[in-house]
Amino acid sequence: KSWFGHVQPAPKDPILGVTEAFLADSHPDKMNVGVGAYRTDEGKPLVLECVRKAEEKIAGSNFMEYLPMGGDISFNNHSMKLAYGEDAGVLADKRVAAVQALSGTGACRLFADFQKRFMPESQVFIPVPTWSNHHNIWRDANVPQNTFRYYDAATKGLDFKGLMEDVKKAPNGSVFLLHACAHNPTGVDPSPENWKEISAFFKEKGHFALFDMAYQGFASGDTERDAQAIRIFLNDGHQIACAQSFAKNMGLYGQRVGCLSVVCDDPQQAVAVKSQLQLIARPMYSNPPLHGALLVSTILEDPELKSLWYKEVKGMADRIIGMRETLRTNLEKAGSQHSWKHITDQIGMFCFSGLKPEQVDRLTKDFHIYLTRNGRISMAGITTSNVEYLANAIHEVSK
Ligand code: PLP
Repeated sequence: KSWFGHVQPAPKDPILGVTEAFLADSHPDKMNVGVGAYRTDEGKPLVLECVRKAEEKIAGSNFMEYLPMGGDISFNNHSMKLAYGEDAGVLADKRVAAVQALSGTGACRLFADFQKRFMPESQVFIPVPTWSNHHNIWRDANVPQNTFRYYDAATKGLDFKGLMEDVKKAPNGSVFLLHACAHNPTGVDPSPENWKEISAFFKEKGHFALFDMAYQGFASGDTERDAQAIRIFLNDGHQIACAQSFAKNMGLYGQRVGCLSVVCDDPQQAVAVKSQLQLIARPMYSNPPLHGALLVSTILEDPELKSLWYKEVKGMADRIIGMRETLRTNLEKAGSQHSWKHITDQIGMFCFSGLKPEQVDRLTKDFHIYLTRNGRISMAGITTSNVEYLANAIHEVSK
């Protein structure tokens, strides 16, 4: 008898599959604009200087012990301050439950499992489109899913009207997954005025917002500005949750360091919620990894390292913003008749190019340029030396 004869190969992950195909290509001009990981203008991964300095500070210290189930307390406190603001009333009131999580994915998954247990009447509303893994996460947590309109293909911008209609149509007290900034894959964010309206509508409908914040600092270069949606919701007195990742903004991808925080009514409730989140973590991975959390808390508690981090995260954001300009200019120079204004209007790591799946296939086949078939281009994969090649290729396939 075969134990595993019935096991079929799993479908390839749409994002990670792109890298596999890229690695298998030996063409010298090949480009990977599929995966959302930052690269320097030399196309190299970047370890931030503030991280190197934090590593030096913690090297040799006695840090191989287990963390508590909820992770490093100092890390959690610094993460919350970053998301909610140094002077946030909810923090002064000690009514936020926070646990360290396995990066942004783990934070979303902890929330989804928590939602299943403690918000059993609610479904989750997910924007169209979204980071593909959101669907997997809530599916595996057995939470019923619904969607809401977000992106308008015609304007390559926000479908604010559709979004508001869907918020209104959703049953009162629904959970909405919102991208705090640098929406993935579209690069399209609501304006502060839009957020204020969304927040007011959420109030009326009694909806709950979970903010997925995987790119704080990466969108505008300013961590405070990138947290404006969260601040607006807090000002309006919402109870929200926030899934934070330090993968992109500190370049700690493989360290799996993130935080899930949930705003509660009062400190007692926050203690109870935290204990339940820990109970979810315990049988899955027991407690989170230590090294990345120590790096983050070392950086955030040291004013010098923190200001170095601000400078470096702004440097990454600025390089991407600059590449948007250059890509657009090169497309216009190549003679493209289409409008490429959305490339510079969109924000964060990705450009939702509007290329059709067949055009993406041609980019890959004829030009060895790898990206997901929804036309999402990771701006971080573009450099001064390959931007013209990419622009000409896009022009060729979109003529
Ligand atoms: N949420 C969004 C919107 C993302 O784009 C990503 C990464 O691509 C994540 C969460 C999670 O990333 P990580 O688990 O590496 O922090």
